[in-house]
Amino acid sequence: MTALSDAGTAVPDLAAALAAIDAAKTVTVLCHVNPDADSLGSGLALAIALGRRGVAVQVAFAEPDEVPVSMRSLPGVEFVVPATEVAREVDLVITVDCASEGRLGSLGDRLASAGTSVVIDHHRSNQHFGALNVIDDSAESTSSVVARLLDELGIPIDRDIAHCLFAGLVTDTGSFRWVQPGSHAFADRLLATGIDGKEITRVLLDTHPFGWLPMLSRVLGTATLVPEAHGGDGLVYAIVRTEYAAGLRSEEVESVIDIVRTTSEASIAAVFKQVAARPGEWSVSLRSRDNVDIGAIATGRGGGGHRFAAGYTAHGSAEAVVAELRAALG
Ligand code: MN
Repeated sequence: MTALSDAGTAVPDLAAALAAIDAAKTVTVLCHVNPDADSLGSGLALAIALGRRGVAVQVAFAEPDEVPVSMRSLPGVEFVVPATEVAREVDLVITVDCASEGRLGSLGDRLASAGTSVVIDHHRSNQHFGALNVIDDSAESTSSVVARLLDELGIPIDRDIAHCLFAGLVTDTGSFRWVQPGSHAFADRLLATGIDGKEITRVLLDTHPFGWLPMLSRVLGTATLVPEAHGGDGLVYAIVRTEYAAGLRSEEVESVIDIVRTTSEASIAAVFKQVAARPGEWSVSLRSRDNVDIGAIATGRGGGGHRFAAGYTAHGSAEAVVAELRAALG
């Protein structure tokens, strides 16, 4: 694990960001809409660390209204406040795992009303929308970047903080599938605090209600292979209509892409998820193997992400949004 200040991952704003975090007495930590365990885990780790220093901290995300069920056992979850209760004016707003201001949803306005802002992220597509930006696109998770910041601040990573950071690491590496030199050393450091990595992983990634199975049956029934897509690289996609996922958690819907993307005949996988509150709107998850940069495809449609995992929002009928992606892939 290289330090953020090393030449390879130089972050020009690092010193100023550390100073801003050190100086703040009131802090809001904002996660992205529909937070995953990397965003919320990173946010809660920061909140625990700052809370211990006597800083007044809120953690929030614009939607949904509640913490996803699988993340309710994360330490520090008591720092989460409803979006409607997020302070208007604080010394510092920190965003975690958000590539763009749009990912903050209705809470994006809190950036301008804060004394200053620090964007902490690992998305290559990050738009550096903070006053200060601590972006390391070589990091496997935002929680890895947060760990380095805590080290720089001299804040010890204890068991509760480690639990939150591990949650981000294990989910963003796909249970340690997508790792790099340093990933396991970081995990080892977190596990050495005494956290139960097996149980954290089981709760976050390996637990679904029975209704997940019939939902999968209906969604996978829509699976379509387009071998000629993207010059023969191949596309596989599936559609999650609102009625297929009724009564299920976001975790169940988010898990679909990890099944679809295993298709050997396609280098690109897509899952079109109808947004329950706005049926003409679709949240599109994209994954690719080594040879295709779908981050650019997502960014080109107003979304963002990484080279091999990205997403965007689309509008129209299922047929229209599928056709639009197929046309974009060529
Ligand atoms: Mn992340």
